[in-house]
Amino acid sequence: MSAADWLPEADRTAPWDQAHVVVAGLGRSGAASADALTELGARVTVVDDADDDAHREQAALFERLGAEVRLGPGASAVLPAAADLVVVSPGWRPTVPLLAQAAQAGLPLWGDVELAWRLQRPDRVVPWLAVTGTNGKTTTTGMLASILAAAGFATAAVGNIGRPVMEAVLDEAAYDVLAVELSSFQLHWLDKASFHSAALLNFAPDHLEWYDDAPAWDCLGWPARAPLAAYAADKARVFEGVTTACVYNAADLETERLTEEADVAEGARAIGFTLGLPAPGQLGLVDGLLVDRAYIAQRRDSALPLARLEDVRPSGPHNVANALAAAALARAYGVAAAAVATGLKAFEPDRHRIETVLEKDGIRWVDDSKATNPHAAEASLSAFDSVVWLAGGQTKKTQFDALAARQADRLRAVVVFGADRAQVAEVMRRHAPDVPVETVEGLDTGAMARAVAAAGRLARPGDTVLLAPGGASFDLFDGYAARGDAFAQAARVWAAQEQEGGADR
Ligand code: ADP
Repeated sequence: MSAADWLPEADRTAPWDQAHVVVAGLGRSGAASADALTELGARVTVVDDADDDAHREQAALFERLGAEVRLGPGASAVLPAAADLVVVSPGWRPTVPLLAQAAQAGLPLWGDVELAWRLQRPDRVVPWLAVTGTNGKTTTTGMLASILAAAGFATAAVGNIGRPVMEAVLDEAAYDVLAVELSSFQLHWLDKASFHSAALLNFAPDHLEWYDDAPAWDCLGWPARAPLAAYAADKARVFEGVTTACVYNAADLETERLTEEADVAEGARAIGFTLGLPAPGQLGLVDGLLVDRAYIAQRRDSALPLARLEDVRPSGPHNVANALAAAALARAYGVAAAAVATGLKAFEPDRHRIETVLEKDGIRWVDDSKATNPHAAEASLSAFDSVVWLAGGQTKKTQFDALAARQADRLRAVVVFGADRAQVAEVMRRHAPDVPVETVEGLDTGAMARAVAAAGRLARPGDTVLLAPGGASFDLFDGYAARGDAFAQAARVWAAQEQEGGADR
């Protein structure tokens, strides 16, 4: 039997020693995939266009395990001969030549998450609770894992959050349940994987550059769609085959629509979360309490308190929404109400997400560098009353118009910086003409210090200086973390200079 015959249904027990698997990408997830496949005896070829020291070191390791590794520019240009399956690392676009060739040749293409799903040990298949959405995934997944742990379950937060799902599958430790963060890219490459329960937190335009060529995907064997529709279709994949609960955001009609259209297992319920009073079948807020009106017998006329608003950190409406979504998934899995508050209190928010980095002279400096699209930036702005907003970066073809119009009232001023600063400045002038806008010119690493100095001059006691750029960071930095660190550092330096009276006010 050729691999093409058994791969569609393959699990861990399949004759992997007869398959040639190409692993696209030698990052952390590609390495975990290659590791699992070589252990099962598959012939493995790993390709990656990078060939720095770290990649070469990894490559040497896999070569010792019997895999072939192709590194360097052009490695992803050609599909290795006689491949049976391609395993795709997160972020690889379908139009990368190797992937396009594989699709045209009719080969199966699985993401790293799909491979992990298939390679679960038969005696250790555990429920996966999945989290996706445009924003809030990492926070919600972390909250979920914390609640599950508080309830006494052995669990791990995996997937897009940083630790590949495959690492948990290969782990010696046995888990009861996994909290899995999934990006739209990872959902794009799923096939058979399906979840106990899944949450779609929100849906807003992002990553549209990834889907730019979606209108032409039919030549690759994928449905051709407008970019936004292709993004929505990938997000909606999270609900396919769900057995217990599809969690949606009652304030975001698109998430509700995608829940309604989902092809789920018989008996699966749609559970909404809301920052208002919950209807039966929802989780929401009553008198400063997060409450459950979905998983209680008397949901027609009562609600079960789960936690207090103060238990949610960082504070802000969007994080309360995240906490409700995490609670909805945990309750779907059967977690007792009391564990929700304990888990939320124990949750340590990740850095660069509404992180206060300095408080001085009545001004709070907040690093939300992870706000890399307008939807996130708007959620972030909504958490504060009077803001000097640092905005810009790479806007990835997204729009700031609605944000500018809706948030104008809370803006003391806007400082725009980075690659798409002119776009943001222009939108502000059009929709919020009364808000002062200062433009920081230049794409050098000093741009952040100049932006901070401008913000410091504009801020008044009681204000928040908020770095929530709404764009990606790669114009000036190695990533959002480096951008956030540069902001915090520049703010401290600026404050110290102010103290000495040396700053130019
Ligand atoms: P993701 O993993 O989806 O990128 P994170 O939890 O890392 O999400 O949060 C990223 C940023 O998105 C935060 O810094 C905040 O600005 C914003 N954010 C978080 N949760 C939400 C939400 N529920 N709705 C809108 N924006 C959010």
